[in-house]
Parts: sequence; C-alpha cells; structure tokens
Amino acid sequence: FNVPTPVNEPVNSYAPGTKERELLEAAIKEARAQEVDVPMYIGGKEVRTGNKAKMTPPHDHQHILGYYHEGTKSHVEDAINAALAAKENWEKLPWEQRAAIFLKAAELIATKYRYVINAATMLGQSKNAYQAEIDSACELADFLRFNVAYMTEIYSQQPPVSPKGFWNRVEQRPLEGFVFALTPFNFTAIAGNLPSSVAMMGNVVVWKPSNTQIYSANIIMEVFKEAGVPDGVINLVYVSGPDAGDVIFKHPDFAGIHFTGSTAVFQNIWNTIGENIHRYKTYPRIVGETGGKDFILAHPSADIDVLNTALVRGAFEFQGQKCSAASRAYIPKSLWDDLRPRMERDISSFKIGGTEDFGNFINAVIDEKAFDKITSYIDRAKAATDAEVIIGGEYDKSKGYFIHPTVIQAKVGDYETMTEELFGPVLTVYLYEDDKWEETLELVDKTSPYALTGAVISQCRYAIDEATYKLRNAAGNFYINDKCTGAVVGQQPFGGARGSGTNDKAGAMINLLRWVSPRTIKETF
Ligand code: GLU
Repeated sequence: FNVPTPVNEPVNSYAPGTKERELLEAAIKEARAQEVDVPMYIGGKEVRTGNKAKMTPPHDHQHILGYYHEGTKSHVEDAINAALAAKENWEKLPWEQRAAIFLKAAELIATKYRYVINAATMLGQSKNAYQAEIDSACELADFLRFNVAYMTEIYSQQPPVSPKGFWNRVEQRPLEGFVFALTPFNFTAIAGNLPSSVAMMGNVVVWKPSNTQIYSANIIMEVFKEAGVPDGVINLVYVSGPDAGDVIFKHPDFAGIHFTGSTAVFQNIWNTIGENIHRYKTYPRIVGETGGKDFILAHPSADIDVLNTALVRGAFEFQGQKCSAASRAYIPKSLWDDLRPRMERDISSFKIGGTEDFGNFINAVIDEKAFDKITSYIDRAKAATDAEVIIGGEYDKSKGYFIHPTVIQAKVGDYETMTEELFGPVLTVYLYEDDKWEETLELVDKTSPYALTGAVISQCRYAIDEATYKLRNAAGNFYINDKCTGAVVGQQPFGGARGSGTNDKAGAMINLLRWVSPRTIKETF
C-alpha cells in the first residue's frame, strides 16, 4: 500500500485584491454577523447542557461570537463510555480506511473549510490572517497528510526474520483503553493534531480543548465528522480541568494522554497518573509538549539583518504566544549599537489592533489572565534595578488585551524574564562582553529549566559548531541563522526535552509509535 507523497499545503498571502482575500473577508463578516451555539460532541451526538459560556474575540471583548455548552463530570463519563463503545469497530477497520478518513479531513480543511477555520482562528484566538493561514489551514492539513504517510510506513514495516518452519510477525495494536487529548489555544493545528494522530492509529479519544479555543475546535470537529470519523471515536467535551481529571485519571481504561500546554499542568497530571497507577489496566502513554524559554544567541560574527529579523519575528509573531517564541537573547556588546535602532525601527512599524484589519501585525493576547501575568512582569521590570524596559512596555485592556511588543534589557543573566516563561510579546536581551562567548554558552545552557527551541546566529563556522555541541541539551529544535519559531510539519519535527516535554516530536513517526502497542506473534508450522 502507498498513500500520495505529502507536500506542504501552499500558503496564501491574502494580499489586497486577491480572490482569497475576498473569500476570507467574507468569512470573517459572516462569522461576526452571527452568534453560534456550540455543543459538545459525545458518541456523535450534539450535547447542549444549557449551561452556556460566552465566546468573545480577545481583541474585542464587547463582541459576542457565540456560546458553548459547558459540561460536568457526568459528560466526561459519557464521553469515555461512548469512546469505549466505538473502540472495537474502529480497531477492526482496516488502517487504509482510517487513512482515507484523515486524508479527506485534510482536503476539507484545505478547501471547503479553509476560510471558515481561518476566520474562526482570527476572531477566536486573535491571530492575524497570515498567522491563521499558516496554522489552521496549512499546518493542520500538513499534520493530517504527513501523519497518514508516517502511519503507512509504520504499518508497512519489514516483518522480523522467520526461520524455516515458523512465521514471526509484529502487529501494531491500538492501546487498550481510551486516550485523553488535552489541547492548547495557541495553535488550531495542534488542537486538531492531538486527537487525530491518536485516532489514526486505531484509538478512541476524549478531547478537551482549551476554553479559549472552543470556537475553532468546533469547526475541526465538524470537519472530522464530515470526513467520516465514526461516532464515538473522537468525543469533544468542554469541562473544567479538575472535573475532567477526576474522572479520566481514575478510570481503569485510561491508556494515555496527548498533551500540549503548560509545564505546571503537565507535571500535575504526571503526579496524578502516578498516584492512580494501580487502577489502570496498562501503563498509560504520557506524551506532552509543554513550556519553553527559547533563546537566540548571537556570535560577534552575526549578520546584523539576519539577527534583527530573527529577534523581532521570533519574539513578536502571534504576540509571542508560541512555546517556541524567542524570549531571551544574548547579544555581544559590539553589535548592540547597530542592532538596537534596527529593532526599534521594526517594532515601531508594527501596527496594533484587531485582526479584522489586515494591516495590524500585533493583536491581542488570549485572555485577561494572560494579560495580567505578562503585564506584571513588565511592571516589575519597570521598577527593577537589574533590568530596564527599553522598547514598548505599554498595555491597555479596555477594548481588547493589547500589549505592545516589549524589550527588556537585563543586567544579570538570571533576571526573572531571562529564565521564566511569560508566553507573551516580551523579549529580554542580555549583553555580553565579546570575549565571553564560552561563558555565555554556559549561561544559556544553565539558566533554563526548559529546552524547546533555540537559535545561534553566526557567520563563524567554529562558533556554530561549538554552540551546536554545547547547547545540545538546551533545545529540541535548534536553528542556525534563523529565528527559533515556525517549524514546518514534515521538515522540522517539533518538540523538546527538560521542562519542555517528552520530546515525542509532533508531526513525526516517533509520535505515532506512542499510540500503538506492538504484539509479537510467533506461529509454528
Ligand atoms: N510549532 C510551532 C513553532 O515551531 C510552535 C508550537 C507551539 O507553540 O506549541 O513555532
């Protein structure tokens, strides 16, 4: 068997005057003109509890996008039961049929639903048009298509050796039980990938999205249904974290979790799973991508334009709300006088506002909790003696959660914004003496409990080689002369270790292998 060799979905620019721009603007207008009523999906049925929560754009909290129906513990129980009831038929379905379903889902995302899901990501999560396109159309379609290709390889692997008189084979069984997908707000693509990659391998799923991503999650679910995912295979519930956890982590059929979110939540979950380990039929698979404190390290030989672009794009695209966002930079003093005005020029050219105006580059952060957390760091830096806010620092939540792109200069290498994750549009710069390259490499490595992404900007091959080696454990995705964000499915498998997760690379075969449990069969003739 073979599936079409995947290629990355081409990215629309949405330049003024293009047909695509017109279609996306129409989708935004239509979405803004209605108030949607979003149900949970359990066993293929739409579930409306009447306990409704409001959805508003982060950049415009007066506007109501619609409501979603909140559930309780009993809905989580129903979702688990629906998943387990769907399991046998789904497992028995030949994998080519599962592949066809998810290839069709990719097709629907890239065509019929492209503008609808981009509009939802723009309005619900405050991504600008280009960022929404890369995420909810292209990356989601890529995840589905590339994962189907990896799945094909897994099911087509060479069997083990069989001496005469025997037949040895390895069967890739789905996990025994159900899998919990707990997904984040910041990438619509990740929200779609976590349940679908698990289901693709023959598993059944209970999916709980972030409350701030339900608006676009609902569309993903519609796509899955239209593509032919059978009832009960993926169940979508909107419940509180503690309610979900209470039911799921005590259930004997809990077989794994596919998670993207904060380090603290993941560690809590890991502990809870440990406490309940005696209850489960099998050791659950724990797969998570968590926080980051991603670095850009410039060598004195760095090309100044490459460095400037890496910093401003790496730090401020999507308001820095990427696990991969550049949030700490190490700059040799000799480059600073040249670099600082370039950063100031580019940052001051960014227009700030709602996503409906395509000229705005910086939009709002996701919610009030995020706004308060990020701005508290900015306020402390304004008052600090060992740090200084040198660019930006303004914020305003009267209409939406807007924070200006902010650069802090830290006078010490372990200042709090050099080591803690803010998840917002704040970059901290630390200047080092040019002859302290070795010490700086050590500082980069030692001061982060995370290890997701990082970049070295250098024209000196010896320095590149040294950084690549010395920082080998400091980033799961390491970039040379580029920003540390924007991993493309099929090109740069994504994930990191230390406090950043289990490094089971999103969009890679290694990830799909976590969702099967091989059985070796020996037959004697
Ligand atoms: N894959 C994304 C990137 O490389 C980041 C994903 C995340 O924030 O979790 O920028």
